[in-house]
Amino acid sequence: MTDQFDYVIIGAGSAGCVLANRLSADGTSSVALLEAGGRDWNPWIHVPVGYFKTIHNPNTDWCYKTENDPGLNGRSLKWPRGKVLGGSSSINGLLYVRGQRQDYDRWSELGCSGWSYEEVLPYFRRAENQSRGEDAYHGVDGPLQVSDMSFKRPICDDFINGVTELGTPYNDDINGEDQEGVGYFQLTAHNGRRCSSAVAYLNGARSRPNLHIITHAMVKKIDFVNGRATTVQIDRQGTPMSLKAREEIILSAGAIGSPQILQVSGVGPSDVLQSQGIDVVVDSPEVGENLQDHLQIRAVYKTRRPVTLNDELSNPLQKVRAGIEYILNRSGPLSMAASQVYAFCRTRLSNERPDIQYHFQPLSADSPGEGLHPFSAITASVCQLRPESRGSIHIQSPDANVHPIIHANYLSTDLDCKTAIESMKFTRRIMQTNAMKDHIAQELLPDPAATTDDELLYQARNIANTIYHPTSTCRMGIDDRAVLDPELRVKGVTGLRVVDASIMPEIVSGNTNAPTIMIAEKASDLILNERKRRQGMAA
Ligand SMILES: Cc1cc2nc3c(=O)[nH]c(=O)nc-3n(C[C@H](O)[C@H](O)[C@H](O)COP(=O)(O)OP(=O)(O)OC[C@H]3O[C@@H](n4cnc5c(N)ncnc54)[C@H](O)[C@@H]3O)c2cc1C
Repeated sequence: MTDQFDYVIIGAGSAGCVLANRLSADGTSSVALLEAGGRDWNPWIHVPVGYFKTIHNPNTDWCYKTENDPGLNGRSLKWPRGKVLGGSSSINGLLYVRGQRQDYDRWSELGCSGWSYEEVLPYFRRAENQSRGEDAYHGVDGPLQVSDMSFKRPICDDFINGVTELGTPYNDDINGEDQEGVGYFQLTAHNGRRCSSAVAYLNGARSRPNLHIITHAMVKKIDFVNGRATTVQIDRQGTPMSLKAREEIILSAGAIGSPQILQVSGVGPSDVLQSQGIDVVVDSPEVGENLQDHLQIRAVYKTRRPVTLNDELSNPLQKVRAGIEYILNRSGPLSMAASQVYAFCRTRLSNERPDIQYHFQPLSADSPGEGLHPFSAITASVCQLRPESRGSIHIQSPDANVHPIIHANYLSTDLDCKTAIESMKFTRRIMQTNAMKDHIAQELLPDPAATTDDELLYQARNIANTIYHPTSTCRMGIDDRAVLDPELRVKGVTGLRVVDASIMPEIVSGNTNAPTIMIAEKASDLILNERKRRQGMAA
């Protein structure tokens, strides 16, 4: 195998797989896709409910942890990230959500020209193969399969009715004209099987002679010559290797991996780099800063009747039956995504647009990925859509194998605290609606004794958890401190871009997989157009 390629892509996650496909499609460029994890051969990756087996599993998850967070009463959280072909799209909850039109218009207002909603919509459509058919918002020719979930339960319908009683409309397409509303999620799945970015974008492309997918390739650093990114240093199961890029190196290692690799390579805040003895290539103060995430506050309610999945799967025989149902029909509990029902609501009707999102599940567990409770219960998890709190990712070693320090810094602004309190009150109102109140036997979480704002905030700090959406640690922008320009080129060097969830100037109002795939679709055009421009100039 040659050690020189036109493009070297670091990280085969949601974004990296898209790039590998698009950049190798016309056969004229050689492309290497480097992934620290292995092939996606673990069968649980492809069964929707399999995230219970793949998160917190070091064979498929980096198993990061945050620092003890004052905003969470000193708790540290587990932060799963996919370490396998497909990256986090191979272990995520499968929920297909794009965010709000205003998110992208805001990126554009911040100076990121080319990223307004009207300009990114074609890339959402280009990625998508929508099972409901084509319309102004949805495409059918893309590789990413998007379909309706088959797993529905009456208690989910009651939750939907409860939310509508409070004034939020029913909306069966939150990725269409308007996001506000309540309904059943669509999934990145097809016939009851997960459609990760690897399944969508690599399966049909891996036989191309110009595409080299290299797994178990742990990227240690990027080398620069006269300010140009030229070489990627990897460790392949104990063997060091160097791969050179003739055109560009593209960093798609995700919101934790990308700033870490930049920092160990000498691009980042000079004080952080110098504290680790790293020569500064570019003093870029915001590499690893601006970390945002959605924080879910999980309310758990015991129900009066056995109408939940806890009841359906309470004994081994029922689990066997669920397994048979999946094998025969690709349906039932094993075809279930991380959540069933969404609600995008306004905590105050005077708000212009939804500021909170619900993930409702007809089940309960101590934490996602752990066993179901031995009693009937439901979970209504709520998160603020546009948190102001910002954290950071800083290396604590020049060795990329050592996890960086993650300060999530949750609930550190007034708005975030107020929204947390309002969202918990909103949840209680839903449980008191005509549709829901007869179901509810007892509030388990938060503590029902918490009624004042201070008590509710204390509860939020005690029980909240990540909903796995870190972003913005290598933000694009036009100000001096931005890490990337709006074409995603790393400022201060040449030959290097970042393309993944870390580039978002601000987190989007929803789950982050579809937006990251859109980012990579658009980036592939930026990269190919620049190549054409250069070739035109050379001709
Ligand atoms: C448990 C979980 C549930 C989620 N649920 C949903 C959901 O239901 N819906 C939704 O929209 N979003 C969800 N998300 C979020 C979404 O999946 C991510 O935002 C998205 O996948 C991020 O894509 P990315 O390309 O930025 O990073 P990733 O997909 O994480 O890809 C980064 C890749 O880079 C590789 N890498 C990192 N460092 C190195 C290195 N040094 N050398 C080589 N390779 C490296 C990683 O192994 C990984 O494959 C979830 C995420 C998780 C973890």
